[in-house]
Amino acid sequence: MREIGVGIIGTGFMGRAHAMAYRAVAGIFADSLRPVLQTVADVNGVAAEKAAAQFGFRRWRQDWRMLVEDPEVEIVSITTPNVVHREMALAAIAAGKHVHCEKPIAPSAQQAKEMMDAAEAAGVVTQVGYNYIKNPVLALARDMVEAGELGEITGFRGIHAEDYMADPQVPYNWRVDPSGGGGAIADIGSHIVGLARFLLGPISKVQADLETVVKSRPSAVGATERRAVEVDDIARLTVRFARGCSGSIEANWVATGRKMRLAFELTGTKGALAFTQERLNELQYYRAGTDPRHGGFLRIEAGPQHEPYGNFCVAPGHQLGFNDLKTIEVADFLAAIAGAKHRGPDFREAWEIQKVIDTAIAASRSGSWLTVS
Ligand code: NAD
Repeated sequence: MREIGVGIIGTGFMGRAHAMAYRAVAGIFADSLRPVLQTVADVNGVAAEKAAAQFGFRRWRQDWRMLVEDPEVEIVSITTPNVVHREMALAAIAAGKHVHCEKPIAPSAQQAKEMMDAAEAAGVVTQVGYNYIKNPVLALARDMVEAGELGEITGFRGIHAEDYMADPQVPYNWRVDPSGGGGAIADIGSHIVGLARFLLGPISKVQADLETVVKSRPSAVGATERRAVEVDDIARLTVRFARGCSGSIEANWVATGRKMRLAFELTGTKGALAFTQERLNELQYYRAGTDPRHGGFLRIEAGPQHEPYGNFCVAPGHQLGFNDLKTIEVADFLAAIAGAKHRGPDFREAWEIQKVIDTAIAASRSGSWLTVS
């Protein structure tokens, strides 16, 4: 397969995850396009230079526009704070580049739509960093729902809870700046909304209660002055799916003790599934009507029978990790660029997710059920 030039903007948590995935992918997926790390950009030039040396980028830049203009860069990967995604993505699309953007792609559905329209008009391939749904056991869960193995679906209870904002001394940062969109509902709520849509399809109506628990934060690292927080720390949604069933969704970044509680329970008339990202190589399955002596949830263990686990490891039970999910995301993106049917999620799906987020914020303000339009 041919080589393809990659440029990554941002060198933080996700910039590193993207660099690792692009480096690893061709060694794991034999038919993959072969990424060449061309350019890395970060507003912090020292960080860009360091990342270039560590990951083997040929060039580093402080100005992301030079990366977008680089003729050797065919893929622009955007791993910066949400508020700047739109400007970067639109410039990359205008330059004819394929775009891999972190989630949420924009602070609002309106901006997300602008990005989607531009990408679709230009005919470039887009990928959004909803990496958790790349888990092979979640593909199994979706297949089981679609095949009717759980009967008629009667309920969904989903949560994404972490505690990285629980300490009131965590300073004001881009995650709580309202110009970047909502708080927990956008930052991690978008993951569980995306997962709910991945499993059960569109969400049609939303009722929501959003709450700010930590009312102010130090205005900067080490500052004594505090700045008021306007975005939510906890969002609790009641939702109705277009397929007919109802559900609840919680996003919570002040959930003391929780580090990665992206979890759901899904109930049907013939069975139920339960999953948590804290044990990402397991899917709990309850089958109704079995011999009562064998009752209870069974643990399905990830293995090579769940594609593409076997690309990483031939042995079951040895387990995939977070960065492997990112590598699967990159593999799907490269396959779509090479002409395969796109598995998503692309900018269109990200727009759909953003519409649910915007509706939840509006529903919390109005105190009523709102339709996701
Ligand atoms: P981070 O703060 O660790 O890194 C952001 C990087 O962007 C920093 O290196 C910063 O210097 C750089 N940057 C900021 N403004 C810039 C600009 N104008 N030009 C160039 N570089 C700039 O943040 P993060 O945790 O990596 O989050 C980044 C994005 O990834 C966000 O959209 C976030 O929601 C998303 N994210 C996704 C996941 C996931 O699981 N998919 C996890 C965490 C974060």
